[in-house]
Amino acid sequence: MLSDDFTISQLAIPSVSLLISFLAYTSQYFFLHFESAPLRKDEVWKINIFALCIWICYFRACYVDPGRLPLSSKSITPGEADKDTTTGRPRWCRRCEAYKPPRAHHCKTCKRSASPQCEISELRLTLFRCIPKMDHHCPWTSNCVSHFTFPHFIRFLFYAVVGMGYLETLLWERGSIVWKSRDLPSYLGPSIGQLIHLFLLIVVNSMTVFALFILLVRSLWSLVFNTTTIESWEIERHETLVRRARVLGGYLEAPGGKKIPIRKQEFPYDIGIWSNVKNGMGGSANIISWFWPLAATPNRKTGWEFEINDFEDPGLSWPPPDPDRIPLPAGPLPGDGPELLKTYSSAREEIEAFRRRQAEDLSRTRPFSEIQRRKRFHERYQQEDSRDSDDERGPGPVYGDQSDEGEESWRNAEGERLRDFGVDEDAEFYDEDDVPLGVLIKQRNKGQ
Ligand SMILES: [Zn+2]
Ligand SMILES: [Zn+2]
Repeated sequence: MLSDDFTISQLAIPSVSLLISFLAYTSQYFFLHFESAPLRKDEVWKINIFALCIWICYFRACYVDPGRLPLSSKSITPGEADKDTTTGRPRWCRRCEAYKPPRAHHCKTCKRSASPQCEISELRLTLFRCIPKMDHHCPWTSNCVSHFTFPHFIRFLFYAVVGMGYLETLLWERGSIVWKSRDLPSYLGPSIGQLIHLFLLIVVNSMTVFALFILLVRSLWSLVFNTTTIESWEIERHETLVRRARVLGGYLEAPGGKKIPIRKQEFPYDIGIWSNVKNGMGGSANIISWFWPLAATPNRKTGWEFEINDFEDPGLSWPPPDPDRIPLPAGPLPGDGPELLKTYSSAREEIEAFRRRQAEDLSRTRPFSEIQRRKRFHERYQQEDSRDSDDERGPGPVYGDQSDEGEESWRNAEGERLRDFGVDEDAEFYDEDDVPLGVLIKQRNKGQ
């Protein structure tokens, strides 16, 4: 019987395993009984070595931990570039309640611990975690492709494409023999069962190798340019914002009516082909280790800081400013204004002032279920356009009322939105709750 928390994604790994077995082993059974051209010894070796490499890399792509934030946030000290350029605040994940290192994203599938049991949906969301240099959450490995799993993932794709490409040549060889002998009496040729088997092998193998080849090319592109799938999306999003700003005088409006200057920003992590590939494959300069299925997973101490090129000011953060992802303006920090200098005439007055501040703090921690989604840009723009007024403001973020989809549903040219990569969109777009006060004060004190 299926358990309650059974999901279709649990079928992914068994299905892929079944596919590998079908192609690698039933093909050998077919060749064994195909009398016109049985497998040569070296062909048997090659098929089985490729199959072994595929199994090892697939297993590691599925089960190697894609990484988690160090338990103590002290182990990460955010540098200048880890702070958001516009707000000056460190990147923060409210779901994890921790600093969000550069290139990390909050995955909506990877859990913090192996088997969290939680009934309350709001709390269940906090059971997921940020993944270092998250590329995407792969449904076929039920795991994140990240700083730590990318080398295993790309090796899996490589061996799958090379191994299945090799199998394809063997299958076509047999296929052409069958075709040539099509005019011979049927009892001389292969049986109907064999013909169906050969046909299925060719169709399944061709389709799979084609799909994986495209994925391999895409992943190699990511490796060579040191740009994750999510970052490619961010680059496109940035280009869109630059275009929007160009029409609106170089600025876009953020919450609170703040005008954010938007200018073209270079992607910072492309540091040259050799370094990109070396770092992407785990940091080793030994080219053979890049192909070795049992190569070590990247050192667990890496993945929190990344070298950047010098095209831009090192203080600029990535992703570039996005007015639709900027937190709502917060009140001043205690001590920033005259509040702290204030002396109270009585203890009672002081307690009241403290309670007021406490209530303000509490109101900042709105639950995620009450997210105010920012209306999509074109809706805002049309709204402003049709309004007959001499108001010169650009189409700043207007909050949607009943709409359950806002600007987070922006899609790139391929029609992908952020959640298609497994990212928790609400945490990415509407992380409106700021860094907790305590952390900010600690941060400020450290700076002094
Ligand atoms: Zn997180
Ligand atoms: Zn994940």
